[in-house]
Order: sequence, then structure tokens, then C-alpha cells
Amino acid sequence: MEQPPAPEAPMSPIEALRRICFLLERGRESSYRVDAFRKASDAITLITDDELTERVKAGTLKQIKGIGDSSAAIIGQAARGEMPTYLAETEKKHGGPLTTDGAELYAALRGDLHSHSNWSDGGSPIEEMVLAAVQLGQEWMALTDHSPRLKIANGLSRERLADQLRRVEAINASVGDSFTLLKGIEVDINLDGSLDQDEDMLAQLDVVTASIHSKLRQPAFEMTPRMLAAVRHPRTNVLAHCTGRLVTGGRGTRPPSAFDAEKVFAACLENDVAVEINSRPERQDPPDELIVLARDLGCLFTIDSDAHAPGQLDMKSLGCARAEQHGIWAERIVTTWPVDDVLAWAGR
Ligand SMILES: [Zn+2]
Ligand SMILES: [Zn+2]
Repeated sequence: MEQPPAPEAPMSPIEALRRICFLLERGRESSYRVDAFRKASDAITLITDDELTERVKAGTLKQIKGIGDSSAAIIGQAARGEMPTYLAETEKKHGGPLTTDGAELYAALRGDLHSHSNWSDGGSPIEEMVLAAVQLGQEWMALTDHSPRLKIANGLSRERLADQLRRVEAINASVGDSFTLLKGIEVDINLDGSLDQDEDMLAQLDVVTASIHSKLRQPAFEMTPRMLAAVRHPRTNVLAHCTGRLVTGGRGTRPPSAFDAEKVFAACLENDVAVEINSRPERQDPPDELIVLARDLGCLFTIDSDAHAPGQLDMKSLGCARAEQHGIWAERIVTTWPVDDVLAWAGR
């Protein structure tokens, strides 16, 4: 993967707005502002270039629904071939690399096994996520929206998942050979360790990323068998954010779940399930000592963004920094592999 390209004027107004959204999301700024710029971007896709030029000249952009003062200024400057001031400022604030550690691993990354769209609790259409992944130099990405029982995150019923799989096929048909969107899911691990989607639907997917979002405070004697059952499920490929901890951020903090990590990671190794290094700053999951444990047991890893917006896709650099810190080489990280190797590993 590559760091996001530095912007150069001239760029189209839509490119400028998209870049601003990317940077704001990456900098974890308020989604309210991002939404406003996305709306403005959507609004100008509906008018012709001639009308846009006319409106910039006449100063009537703001008459279009969805375009406010800031957006009008950005669109106007971009349309005149200038670098929008707002973009230059946002670039200064959020444009640099998130971290310089792990740069070699970051460059070796090809894909992502954990990402969300607005079909569940992400903020952007699948196409926007794909476009951002392509611009970052990714070769593949698994779309892993939530499963039915996670109602708070608008988890996908089997019918909606079936619809989504058709959409993924259509996107792959139009995006060309240099990028593959994998059919995936972030499937909830139920209380009894079963997976929260029908077997026949799981069988249609390229990859299955499994995680726990409920009853995180179970005692270890319940949590361990629950996780073991999920890891041993023949469809499971990735164990995501295994402790569920939150270390910072708007949702507050949460301690890691209690479970027998040695047993769970040994089962991961035995069942060819990768242990996810979740790159989200508020998760940083697994904690250091568990990364070391999984490393020493010989587990495979993934470095995933768990992105809920395009601008969060390159948070993977934070995961790379942690992997490097613990001496995990690229060969052991599934997200550095070519897509065909990933599909073969996933048993597809
Ligand atoms: Zn999750
Ligand atoms: Zn997720």
C-alpha cells in the first residue's frame, strides 16, 4: 500500500471534496462535517460541467440544496484551478503519515480482511470504499458488514446479504482485474460459539471474519469455549479484535475480555485461523502481550483497518507499527498476500 497521494491543483471539485472527506475521516474528525462535504459532492454530480462553471461565475452555487458556505468556497476554488484553502489546511493538519513506524510492512500490505459499508454501520457506499482502497494501492479488500443479530449496527439479514453479494459481483465486474472485492462478513460469535449467519450463506462467502460484540464480560470459563467453538467452525478464517477492549475514544474505555488466550490461539493455529491485529486507535486489539503469545505459538496474523469510512482504510499503518514492534514478518501476515493465495488459504 501507499500513503495517500499528495494533492496537486488543478483537481476537480469532486476530487477536492473527496480528498477532504478522506482526510477528516482519517483524522477522526466529526462525521457531521464529513457528511456535509459528501452531500455537496453528491449535489454537484447531478449538474453539468457547464452549469457548474456558470454557477461559480455567478456565485449561485449555494442555491443548490446541500451546498453551504464552506463547500461553495472549495468547489469555486477547485473549479478555477486553484488549491482550495480548506483542503490545504486539512492537508496540513491530517495529511502526514499516521505513523512512520512499520513503513516497510505498510508498503507490503495488499489487502484488508475487515471493512464496513453503509449496508451495516459504515458511513459510505461500497463503491466509495473500493475507490479509496484502489487509490491507496490496495489489490483486494474483504467487505465484512455485520451479521443479523447485531441490530444496533444494522446487521445484514440473509436476504440483504444475498443482495450485497450480487452488488459485490457487479462491482468486481466493473472495477477491472487490478482490484478484487472479496465477499465477506464480520459474523457475530453467538453465546454458544455458533456463528450468526446461516451455513448456506457462509458457504457463499470468500472469507469469514468472526468477532464478539455481546456479553464481553463473561467469565473465562464461558468465554474460552465460546471462542474455541467459533475458531473451530470450518468457515471461520479470521478472529477479529479478540479481546474487545477499548483503550481510548468517544465510546469510552473497556477492559479486555477474560479468556484462555493460549488455548484460543493454539486452536487458531490448528484450524488455520488468522489472529487479527485490529488497527483502530481506540481498539489496538490484541494487547501487546497477546500479540507476542500468538507470535510465539506460530499463528498467522491479519492487519485490518476495520474501516467504517474510506478515510479509515489507511489506519492499517497503525497496525503495521505494532506488528513491526513485535517482530512479525510480512510472510505471516495474510493481508500482505496476493488475492489468490488468500482465497486458497480461506479454502475457496
Ligand atoms: Zn467488530
Ligand atoms: Zn468491524
